[in-house]
Amino acid sequence: MRNPLSLLSWGLHAGLRRDIARLERLYYEPYEKTCEAKVATLRELVRHAMENVPFYREFYGKAGVVADDLRTFDDLKHLPYVCKEDFRKVPIEERTARNISRRRRRPATTSGSTGQPFSLYMDLADSPMETAAHNLFQIWSGWRPGERVAYVRQKFTKMPFDATRQWFKTRLGMSTIRVLSDELDRETVPKVMEELVAKRVTLLQGYASSLCTLARQWRDARPSSIRSVISIAETLTEDDARMLSERLGAEVFRDYSMNECMRAGFECDRHDGYHVDPLRSIVETAKGYRGQDEIVVTNLTNRVHPFIRYRAGDVGRLTFDPCPCGRRTPRIEGLGGRVLDVIELPSGKELNIHVFGKPFRSYEHAVDCWQARQVGERELEMLVEVSEAFSDAMAERIREELEAATEGTMAVRVRKVDRIPLGKNGKRDRVVSLARLRAIRGESDEGGATLAKGGGR
Ligand SMILES: [Zn+2]
Repeated sequence: MRNPLSLLSWGLHAGLRRDIARLERLYYEPYEKTCEAKVATLRELVRHAMENVPFYREFYGKAGVVADDLRTFDDLKHLPYVCKEDFRKVPIEERTARNISRRRRRPATTSGSTGQPFSLYMDLADSPMETAAHNLFQIWSGWRPGERVAYVRQKFTKMPFDATRQWFKTRLGMSTIRVLSDELDRETVPKVMEELVAKRVTLLQGYASSLCTLARQWRDARPSSIRSVISIAETLTEDDARMLSERLGAEVFRDYSMNECMRAGFECDRHDGYHVDPLRSIVETAKGYRGQDEIVVTNLTNRVHPFIRYRAGDVGRLTFDPCPCGRRTPRIEGLGGRVLDVIELPSGKELNIHVFGKPFRSYEHAVDCWQARQVGERELEMLVEVSEAFSDAMAERIREELEAATEGTMAVRVRKVDRIPLGKNGKRDRVVSLARLRAIRGESDEGGATLAKGGGR
């Protein structure tokens, strides 16, 4: 059922509908043509970065980059790659454009599902197109303006006013419901589902981990109103996608997105790779870890904190084979290096990467990387790679917060390590459940972390 008020709001926003139509049209244009159209934007972005962002001034200065040398799309390959480590070494102010108003900054962090997270700013000037892309992908998934959408998400973190305004704009033409994934357990899930059906929600959208938490706890008949599910930001494995689709009786769509580059790719109804955005980003691949192809993205719209030829740390490849849907942008394939584990409490509540990440937000300067490992039925170990700034008091506060998050059912230990071990995919998983830890130990010996000299707690 479509909500008349939402439909009216949709009807009144001609600008948004125009942006959506324009973006959709670009997907059907020859890819080379959209690439050539990006060259001028890229050249201007590089010039801007060299003039106003201290990090790029030095980085490109050393590499001898000259913005005016970027004449064709092919010239892109003369720019050096930037990786997470390059950014992490430099304070955020050095990576931010000095000539742009602070009001355009929207603070965020990298998802941090693998590797080491860092703070960044998103550019609020990109809001209108971001809103259009958001709505376009919902339309791809079968949503129609005026239909109700439920967002499954973590508790609200405080957002600046402009970001809040954008958040509401994104939801034009749809009445929305929020479901807090922190509150989902065996008791609450049936009530939540009942409400979604009663309110005729047709689309469910959220982080992969949050959606899975909801679906795993749901054991009754498929909720009749829900037709599709959009899983964002985190890589949803094939198994989890199947589970979501079976339990909810809905078609599952995935995106490839990150705060560094927003929505770089989205699945069409053929579900065979993620169509690359034809307007706002450039996606390439480079040889990475163990010779695997790694995704490289350029965000053409973030001028506050530029990401140019940024190695996102995800394994994946590009295919230029035509997609039966008729859209002509290449597709990202073979993603899925990340495994999203959760740790289940006796109440049925699941702790995922976001819950474990919370206590670390205040200690970004002191903790380089962390991993939550369930080492026994009621025992949890937090491995941390730390800098000199880390103190016993911090470890104690992290321990207390996490014990509270486990509803007092688990003993938590914070342990300093030199290096958090890599998983089989060459990445550091953030959450390792007991079942997977046993599997890892059964198969190989990579389970043991190296203890820091002097030990931790
Ligand atoms: Zn397609």
